[in-house]
Amino acid sequence: PSRQRITVLGATGSIGVSTLDVVARHPQHFEVFALSAHRNIDLLFEQCMRFAPRFAALELPAAAAELRTRLADAGSRTEVLEGPQALIDVAAAPETDTVMAAIVGAAGLPPTLAAAQAGKRILLANKEALVLSGALFMDAVRASGAVLLPIDSEHNAVFQALPERFERNPAASGVRRILLTASGGPFRDTAPAELEAVTPEQACAHPNWVMGRKISVDSATMMNKGLEVIEAHWLFGAPAEQIEVVVHPQSVIHSMVEYVDGSVLAQLGNPDMRTPIAHALGWPARIEAGVRSLDLFEIARLTFERPDFERFPCLALAYQALREGGAAPAVLNAANEEAVAAFLDRRLGFRRIAEVIAATLERVRALPVDSLDAILAADGRARQVAREEIRNRS
Ligand code: NDP
Ligand code: MG
Repeated sequence: PSRQRITVLGATGSIGVSTLDVVARHPQHFEVFALSAHRNIDLLFEQCMRFAPRFAALELPAAAAELRTRLADAGSRTEVLEGPQALIDVAAAPETDTVMAAIVGAAGLPPTLAAAQAGKRILLANKEALVLSGALFMDAVRASGAVLLPIDSEHNAVFQALPERFERNPAASGVRRILLTASGGPFRDTAPAELEAVTPEQACAHPNWVMGRKISVDSATMMNKGLEVIEAHWLFGAPAEQIEVVVHPQSVIHSMVEYVDGSVLAQLGNPDMRTPIAHALGWPARIEAGVRSLDLFEIARLTFERPDFERFPCLALAYQALREGGAAPAVLNAANEEAVAAFLDRRLGFRRIAEVIAATLERVRALPVDSLDAILAADGRARQVAREEIRNRS
């Protein structure tokens, strides 16, 4: 059988690096067609030398020029493309079969949507893209026959625990609830008053997972779980009422599906993103991920808690935005991206993140989201308002 030709968007990030680690274990199954990055030219250069992709894509012309020179000096035949269209082109190229969408944030939407419109096999890590564009994205997937495989560990677990016929007929599938597990992040037991003074370093020190900085802060506020509730809604066609969050500090159960007969199916594993990445890369086959066996004797105990919506208001805001629908999830996401960036820059306190999002949701309403341009306009408007709300609090 011919090899899957892969484009990795966000190759230099935490997910991108794990993806290439799995790909490198299976040279007989995969070849790298294109890699994209943003600022990390050193790592992208190394990856190009190692995987010899046909294309490397960078939005910024200065970064592209530097990479081009270095690759030429090293005798590489990888061609460097630049500008926002370059990312779209490598995601939708006829010569690529599979697109790993691993850019962080709304910046990943245009190329990921292009992959959906072009009917690719999409490995979706970039949850913000789906939160932002929900209906439009899923319509594009259905219209083109794209295959959408979730990389987010919770959604990958749910995907594995759902019956095959679910996609065609969610209502008749016998599913009662989707139970998304959450670690609770680094501040699960921190008293609300102490959250006032936490630093970016503390917020980025996740107890179980090593991830990029933005998603690490999202885990600390639990907005990550909120975005994942919205992501699950679009991926699995389930209403907000059918999606519940269960705090499970060990991060061993990655999520569960409950059926009407009372059966609950779970997927378990070590907290290593190479497991869901290998699952999606190999699907429907199973391939080696380089992950050690789960040591249940060492883990010994699995515990569960109710999420604390008062300590973690971001989770409640995400449910509220999902119920409200329309532009609300896009506004929630944009305000969150701005607030998290300000927190990481030490311009905004940790507890103000939720305030900025709530205030932005109040102020930005009833915008259309029926095209990519309309979504990007709503995203832009929400960012403008969020920046005002941030300035008022710094
Ligand atoms: P990282 O911050 O580690 O990596 C982000 C990647 O996106 C890098 O390759 C970065 O390039 C690139 N990038 C950043 N900004 C832009 C931009 N404006 N335009 C184009 N490319 C850009 O993030 P993660 O790998 O942790 O996360 C990626 C996505 O996967 C996120 O949506 C996250 O929510 C999701 N995810 C991550 C998990 C994890 O374990 N890390 C788990 C589940 C989901 P460069 O480095 O060159 O600047
Ligand atoms: Mg997750």
